[in-house]
Amino acid sequence: AKQSGRGNVREYDSSFDSAIQDRIRLEREIQRGIERDEFFLEYQPIMSTHDRSLVGYEALVRWQHPERGRVPPDQFIGIAEECGLIAQLGEWVVRRACRDAASWQNGLNVSVNVSPIQFTTSDLPEVIKSALDDSGLTSNRLSIEITESTFLIGNQIIDILKRLRALGVGIVMDDFGTGYSSLSHLRNFQFDKVKIDRSFIWDMIKRPHAAAIVDVILFLGRRLGVDIVAEGIETSEQLAYLQERSCSLVQGYFIGRPSQTIAEKPREEVLESP
Ligand code: C2E
Ligand code: CA
Ligand code: CA
Ligand code: CA
Repeated sequence: AKQSGRGNVREYDSSFDSAIQDRIRLEREIQRGIERDEFFLEYQPIMSTHDRSLVGYEALVRWQHPERGRVPPDQFIGIAEECGLIAQLGEWVVRRACRDAASWQNGLNVSVNVSPIQFTTSDLPEVIKSALDDSGLTSNRLSIEITESTFLIGNQIIDILKRLRALGVGIVMDDFGTGYSSLSHLRNFQFDKVKIDRSFIWDMIKRPHAAAIVDVILFLGRRLGVDIVAEGIETSEQLAYLQERSCSLVQGYFIGRPSQTIAEKPREEVLESP
């Protein structure tokens, strides 16, 4: 039946129809992927610029699809959000990250990305509390990363964030500077960390405008007493620039790539660079 179904679509093919077909297929495959354990996590190190030691890792979800191969998160997170599967996938991510971190000998922290949808379709503080209890991970070793669009769900977001804070979980503002009314979110909630969006770091050395924005975010972080994390560092110039301006935490391919086994220290080049 599956064969003939596919044939039918092909015969009066319109690219619109096939896009919808693809989409429906992908939804089913995400569901199946969760059931069949096709998702896994990679961990990207986060480094302190003070002594170039690692402080923790960001968990990034990966999908090893049996036929499609490796599917990047940009190609399935959005769909999982729209079809409601993100609650299930997101809970799996939180639970796995907590269990992994609890087993790390170095006792470093783990940071997990959370979709805005997870705040509306599940009781996130409850899910996280249960993941912490089941794994035995101390709450201060876990952070969640949220984007500015999370604030679009309404005022109740502040109460939920406060409940998470009360558990002892760190709250990180991700992709800072790319959403709407970025500054007002910093006024309304005291984040533990703010991550400067990768696009500013990317341009910083070549474009004075991007550098100016980075400088101001670093200044703002000091005034607000919030640690600033710079992500997307790919070169020693970028690291040097940020270090000169006392950016305390950095992350990027230059420091270490995401990987299934956690790095114990930054890449050799980082330790050798001025
Ligand atoms: P993000 O949270 O901004 O994560 C950082 C992304 O930048 C990751 O892409 C990471 O691999 C990449 N990256 C790190 N260092 C560098 C660098 O030096 N240069 C460049 N060009 N890229 C770098 P990835 O893993 O493809 O994830 C993309 C996005 O997917 C994430 O962006 C996040 O929004 C989402 N995502 C990933 N894992 C999860 C998850 O478990 N849950 C949810 N809700 N979203 C996730
Ligand atoms: Ca992130
Ligand atoms: Ca980010
Ligand atoms: Ca992002």
